[in-house]
Amino acid sequence: MKVIGLLGGMSWESSIEYERIINECVRARLGGTHSADLIIRSYDFARIEALQASGNWDAAGDLLATDAKMLQDAGAEIIVLCTNTMHLLADRIEAAIDVEFLHVADAAARAVQAAGVQRVALLGTRYTMEHDFYRGRVERHGLDVIVPDEPDRTTVHDVIYDELVRGVVDPYSKRRYLDIIDTQIGRGAEGVIAGCTEIELLVGPDDMTVPYFPTTRLHAEAAVEAALR
Ligand code: GLU
Repeated sequence: MKVIGLLGGMSWESSIEYERIINECVRARLGGTHSADLIIRSYDFARIEALQASGNWDAAGDLLATDAKMLQDAGAEIIVLCTNTMHLLADRIEAAIDVEFLHVADAAARAVQAAGVQRVALLGTRYTMEHDFYRGRVERHGLDVIVPDEPDRTTVHDVIYDELVRGVVDPYSKRRYLDIIDTQIGRGAEGVIAGCTEIELLVGPDDMTVPYFPTTRLHAEAAVEAALR
């Protein structure tokens, strides 16, 4: 089994889900007392959020690239970046390491394809919904991606930063998300990518009338697949 390096804390509310899911999958696959072999770098998310909000992607890229290399030097054989948003910097990270980097958008897109879904709605932070790094990557798998219009994008973004990364799971926000998802289904979405690692803390597959693609779970499962390959 390969050693997985997790770049996490973005936020820790979802990183602990990565750790839990990865360990549960390893137990399911190997049985006995087996668990995952992990090295974790978990940031103070306030530092990351400040870099995002000020548009200082260069400094954020330096930080993540340096720490990905540090995980590799410490023995990680696979690097998993436990946030969709910071995949905006995936190229910087990949350039700094020699080991495998598992892109979350590929894990999501493969699951969408496997479900036979063609047109999928993408929910995430403003960065994820509005920049091309994520949407474009999913579309390169031959899929059609739609994102909510305003003001729904602002609602989706604000619930992540004002509530979910702070450990707040509010039923009213869940209702608002489900209404936004209904709007996307009305626009032709046949499935929904929870393209932010905290969204699945708020909305689960049982809340949905269409296939749901929760990226923390999908990315964590892809990490186990790679570790045991
Ligand atoms: N965890 C979130 C994501 O998957 C948002 C927090 C962040 O900006 O990293 O995009």
